[in-house]
Amino acid sequence: MALTKEAVITALSGTTDLVDRGLVGKVTACDGHVHITLSAAGFDSDAEKQKAKNAAEHAVKSLAQRTGDALLGLLVEFASTQPRTVSLQQAGKDAGKPGASAASASASHNATQQSAAPNLPGVKHVIAVGAGKGGVGKSTVAVNLAVGLALRGHSVGILDGDIYGPSLPTMLGLDSMQTNIIANMLQPFYVHGVKAMTIGKLVDPEKPLIWRGPMAHGAFKQLLEQTEWGGLDYLIVDLPPGTGDVSLTMAQLMKLTGAVVVCTPQVVAQDDAVRAVRMFQQLGIEVLGVVENMSYFVAEDLSPPREYDLFGRGGAEQMAQRLGVPYLGGLPITVALRKNSDDGNPSANYQGSTRLSAALEQLVTNFEGQVALAGMRAGAVRPTLTIS
Ligand code: ADP
Repeated sequence: MALTKEAVITALSGTTDLVDRGLVGKVTACDGHVHITLSAAGFDSDAEKQKAKNAAEHAVKSLAQRTGDALLGLLVEFASTQPRTVSLQQAGKDAGKPGASAASASASHNATQQSAAPNLPGVKHVIAVGAGKGGVGKSTVAVNLAVGLALRGHSVGILDGDIYGPSLPTMLGLDSMQTNIIANMLQPFYVHGVKAMTIGKLVDPEKPLIWRGPMAHGAFKQLLEQTEWGGLDYLIVDLPPGTGDVSLTMAQLMKLTGAVVVCTPQVVAQDDAVRAVRMFQQLGIEVLGVVENMSYFVAEDLSPPREYDLFGRGGAEQMAQRLGVPYLGGLPITVALRKNSDDGNPSANYQGSTRLSAALEQLVTNFEGQVALAGMRAGAVRPTLTIS
């Protein structure tokens, strides 16, 4: 993979004057996804900004063409805060810099003083993904939903609210990436077309996270509010499992468009999922739908691949009907899904035409539809009726 951060900065430097003028802030390049932040203060007009954006995009696209790398995602955006600018000499020297975690911890500490309500003006929809219990695939659904939405051109963020067992570092392949703070704001990681933030990158992953309720809420609030999300169509929040105090308070901390509940088909799992649905409803949060994960097993080594109903496929759909909430779809158990999660490569789940990719596409389509309907119900978008 020749599409590295250093190569991107070199390309920007060779074909634009943005680097020389000190207007390039953060640059990340990971698995074919490139994210560039330019300093908004350096441009007098929107036309100038657009010109710079086009030039930066052109530089990266030409670079990818030259290197033969697939450019899966490209985001050039403007930061209102003054970014720490990069130079050609600096490129690559930051990697693995010690003290990044300490810096983040101190930024987080400062943030404890703030008590402002969550303020995410650039985010159109905040969606919580919850589950009645752990291990049902809540994080898997949250990550794949986020990546699927990004692949359709939406601007997407994902926040790991599962502060007791953050999965995003592994599932999104963040392990070797460095935490970056600019002007006291955490800079999200840009991977698989998605902006991501997780407590798992701010603490020692091997140490147990022993949070008492208020500490957990505080940490979550900081991650939510002190991450520079920028403009987003969707911010997907992976909540902790269960309906305990922490999930409940987190759900209340955000102005949510709605929530998605993940469960497996078994009757015992449904009981937990019903509690999760009820929790959101009691908080006045619209349940956008239920996802049945591990719906059935696909033996991919058989030709054609064969499906086995292990846990009682369709159980979650019946539960959704009983509760009067939408059913968003079911995901199969596949080795590929488990492996791509462990490898931090969720984009691969959408590649090729497999039962998994088809199920994921269907899930994303249904999700988009439910969010649009929720928007209409909230009066944000009014349908027009024309009678001719
Ligand atoms: P939760 O967030 O509910 O605790 P995770 O999303 O972390 O659950 O999933 C638990 C484990 O199960 C992970 O290793 C994940 O890769 C695996 N997994 C989840 N859903 C599937 C699936 N449909 N097929 C294969 N493996 C899955």
